[in-house]
Amino acid sequence: MPPKRFRRIVSKTMRQTKAHGKWLFTEIEPEDNLLLNLGMGGDLLYHKDHSTAPEKYQFKLTFQDNSELTASFFWFGYIHLVSNKELIKHKMTGKLGISPTDENFTAEKLASILSGRRGMLKSFLLDQKNIAGIGNVYIQDPLFRAKLHPLRKIQTLTEAEIKALHLSIREVLNESIKLRGLKYEKDLYGRKGEYGPEQFMVAYKEGKPCPVCGKTIVKIKTGNTSSYVCPECQQLKTSALGPAHGYRQLIQPRTSGRARPSD
Ligand SMILES: [Zn+2]
Repeated sequence: MPPKRFRRIVSKTMRQTKAHGKWLFTEIEPEDNLLLNLGMGGDLLYHKDHSTAPEKYQFKLTFQDNSELTASFFWFGYIHLVSNKELIKHKMTGKLGISPTDENFTAEKLASILSGRRGMLKSFLLDQKNIAGIGNVYIQDPLFRAKLHPLRKIQTLTEAEIKALHLSIREVLNESIKLRGLKYEKDLYGRKGEYGPEQFMVAYKEGKPCPVCGKTIVKIKTGNTSSYVCPECQQLKTSALGPAHGYRQLIQPRTSGRARPSD
């Protein structure tokens, strides 16, 4: 997006910012949204005045009180200005799934997202069209905490397992947010993140003992990504777990009389 297109936000007011997947959405009055994606990483920093601004940056906003917001991309990134009307049609964000930190991301919501879907659990959760905001770092421990193997078939999940998965996704993400993200990341004020190996349970811990049972954690290939699993706590169940205990009980009764597949 050419810089001159951003002129229409001059002297407008910036409102709240929300995270959605790898994107940040900031409302700009009266009807614009500043969309920012740090790509493979970068620094988004707020400065009380120019003295702490970095030498190099790709984007800068200067506010009326002379404070500044800078964005520096490590590799690539995106900054788009999109009106409320165009937002739903925005090619890169229009199809994003729900954010796992959204208050509407409940266990029931997760069950309904998984409902009727097939395939491997982990790749489904990483697909930003299903849930936008869980990457390969943050998927490892939620699966472990919920005692789920990454290659588990979605249609065999029980209601209890989905509840446990939902809870563990929220716990892991909230803990990282509280600690301002990973160690190589910074918050808006330049304070370093503290989330890392001390907090990880199985993530990036191959060869180390499982914190629950003591078995050795292994690293396995799961599609295009690597997974860290405890072979004892996260057994890959291949057979059906009994449709009577299926997760569909968690969601609203279906209006159609379609029978549940018995696999
Ligand atoms: Zn274990």
